[in-house]
Amino acid sequence: MKKPVIVQKFGGTSVGTIDSIYTVAKHVINAKNQGNHVVVVVSAMSGETNRLMSLAKQVDSVPNARELDVLLSAGEQVSMALLAMALDKLGHKACSLTASQAKIHTDNQHNDATIKSINTDTIERLLTQNNIVIVAGFQGINDNGDITTLGRGGSDTSAVTLAGALSAKECQIFTDVDGIYTCDPRVVTNAKKLEEIDFPSMEQMASKGAKVLHLPSVQYAWKHNVPLRVLSTFEVNSGSLIKGDSPTREVAGLAINRHLLFIEIDEQFIVSATTQCQMLGINLFSVIKHPDRSGIVIEHESISKLDLVFSDKIRNSSEVSLLTVVGLRAKGLIKSSKQLLMECDINVVDHFLDNDSLTILLSRDCVDNAACMLHDAYIAQGQAFDDQKKHMLLG
Ligand code: ADP
Ligand code: ASP
Ligand code: MG
Repeated sequence: MKKPVIVQKFGGTSVGTIDSIYTVAKHVINAKNQGNHVVVVVSAMSGETNRLMSLAKQVDSVPNARELDVLLSAGEQVSMALLAMALDKLGHKACSLTASQAKIHTDNQHNDATIKSINTDTIERLLTQNNIVIVAGFQGINDNGDITTLGRGGSDTSAVTLAGALSAKECQIFTDVDGIYTCDPRVVTNAKKLEEIDFPSMEQMASKGAKVLHLPSVQYAWKHNVPLRVLSTFEVNSGSLIKGDSPTREVAGLAINRHLLFIEIDEQFIVSATTQCQMLGINLFSVIKHPDRSGIVIEHESISKLDLVFSDKIRNSSEVSLLTVVGLRAKGLIKSSKQLLMECDINVVDHFLDNDSLTILLSRDCVDNAACMLHDAYIAQGQAFDDQKKHMLLG
């Protein structure tokens, strides 16, 4: 292919209404008019995947995994066809493809599949025939030809992997915020937009709950050197670039993983609970073995699965969240963050350390407050200090 390829991904809010779909079409046409081949990846219209999930759960609290993928993948097919129609109406050749048509092959892990390979023949042929190619995000096919899905938020990973397979010059993740912030800007209103963030910090942020990027998309882009940018569908901006192999910031940001449950289990049953989680494909966030309180932390929505086999051992469950500080200095902040939170009557249930990160487990109703407090202490004040220093140097 002679022209460079750009992959643009649009999330749920970006394709949430017909008006928004026309806004998306303009971004796509712009990129095409600048001399690029454009491959577009779309999510389901906002709220649609949740709606389909709730229908499935009304049928069965633990729906059949293969059929759930058939159902959930339908959402993306609606948006891809609507976008193709909008582009066609605006006078541009466009063709939408399901994952099966786009030959996106995954493993057999229904509901949480991993992309193994993409055969780009069909996409490349359509591009050379002057089409804008629109691919359904979030879905793939396994070796049996069955539909799989990549886990919630998985369209980011479809886009980045396609960008890698097509050697695209950039993968642009268009969303409802104008970049990566030092914390979710809907929670911390004075969070700061980062022009650039390094891959290890972004990986930590995504793995600890910053859902702005699906974790495997960050890992794939890092490993395969895919230029990755996050930007807004609704504002003109250059967004944030994910770039660099080494963390540079003392405190890069904070991530919140909100919808978790602390399942209290007697210590003697913890090993069997963790084994059950492994067998059921339940993500285990932590194991707590305090003399007065022992148990496991899992995602809220996994409880119905665990209940099937373990309900008699569960003593109690409470809604908890994880708040993670990411950055070179994060691990040294245990004492001061506990102190700061205690001063506001926020109780830290437990804490964990990982690569350049400190994670705090707390009750769900205080996580937003805690995020604002720690952001003020470790990021906003540091920023004010840097600004003051710059001012003094200049002035
Ligand atoms: P999309 O539907 O476009 O995939 P998502 O809802 O998955 O969008 O991700 C975007 C959301 O991520 C934002 O609306 C924001 O609330 C949230 N978010 C969490 N952490 C961050 C962060 N550090 N920077 C920016 N947005 C964040
Ligand atoms: N539609 C899917 C979800 O809501 C995938 C995505 O939006 O990336 O999780
Ligand atoms: Mg998303």
